[in-house]
Amino acid sequence: MIYQWLEPAWREVLAQRATLHHALLIHGPTGIGKSAFAEKLAQSLLCESPLPDGAACGRCSACGWFAQGNHPDFRRLAPAAAEEGGDGEASAGEERASKSGGKSGTRSGSKPSRDIRIDQVRALERFTEVGGHRGAIRIVLIDPADALNAAAANALLKTLEEPGGAMRFLLVTDRPDVLPATVRSRCRALPLPLPAADEAAAWLAADAGVDAAQARAWLAAAGGAPLRARRLADPAQAAIHRLVVETVAGLPETGVLQAADALADVAAAIWVATLQAWVVDLQRVCVGAPPRYFPDRAERLGALARRSGLVALDRLAVRLDRAARAVDHPLNPRLMIEDALLDVRAALVARAS
Ligand SMILES: [Zn+2]
Repeated sequence: MIYQWLEPAWREVLAQRATLHHALLIHGPTGIGKSAFAEKLAQSLLCESPLPDGAACGRCSACGWFAQGNHPDFRRLAPAAAEEGGDGEASAGEERASKSGGKSGTRSGSKPSRDIRIDQVRALERFTEVGGHRGAIRIVLIDPADALNAAAANALLKTLEEPGGAMRFLLVTDRPDVLPATVRSRCRALPLPLPAADEAAAWLAADAGVDAAQARAWLAAAGGAPLRARRLADPAQAAIHRLVVETVAGLPETGVLQAADALADVAAAIWVATLQAWVVDLQRVCVGAPPRYFPDRAERLGALARRSGLVALDRLAVRLDRAARAVDHPLNPRLMIEDALLDVRAALVARAS
């Protein structure tokens, strides 16, 4: 399905159906429905009797195979770890992590990779070279494209450069900046937007069966992304979110070790994202803007921001960006938490000391 806030982009891309660039980089914030959008686009391009607007008919044999996951002219590249339990919006590290959160280390044997690896890209070579089985078009969906490791991205370049026949690549990511520039430059960007706040709140209230005030609170915590907000509304996720926010908000008074203990079982992607949101709000409050993610904690944010100052907060934001890039590959998760919390403490006591 196409979420209502993506419909303008959807109509636009269907209108260009006949002349679509061979590689689209579908990007936008986490939790807005990019994966579902890309999948529907793939189905529509493969459909053998598309509707007048260009969307898939849902009734032809191509649509049938697509729905069953065995269309011969379609391939999907995803990390082995994500394929274990994909739910259609696996495009963010946070989303991938939330599925395995809390049970890391309990799995026996070798861990499924969080990367898209070179052997997966090589396995595509025959697919991209031979002609399509049904029609002219063959499609490779890469989701999340930021999971391509360096070797895999390199191997992909050649095919992206000179796609054989009517190959189409759909790359999906919420972190286009971490893709190699060589890959990005061979794609046409298709940015997908966040919905307007009122539209998102109305949708979430109806979908999750909550009142408008609750919907707005979840949306704020999710940075305005409706699907992310809907996940936060899930009781198990809500409990984790509350724990992380309480822990983060308790710094620097809470000791680093105590805070690190509290976060020990939380997936890195989740606590890093919350810390980043907290720092964004501190920066906003520092310059007199209202908090975006934690409007109900404006007072606490104000007190901390006065103590710390913009310079220290900007420095902290840069360090957290670096941590965010490592969330899928933490060498030592405990050390990663402690490092980040030490950085936070240093920033929050910057002026006092
Ligand atoms: Zn069809």
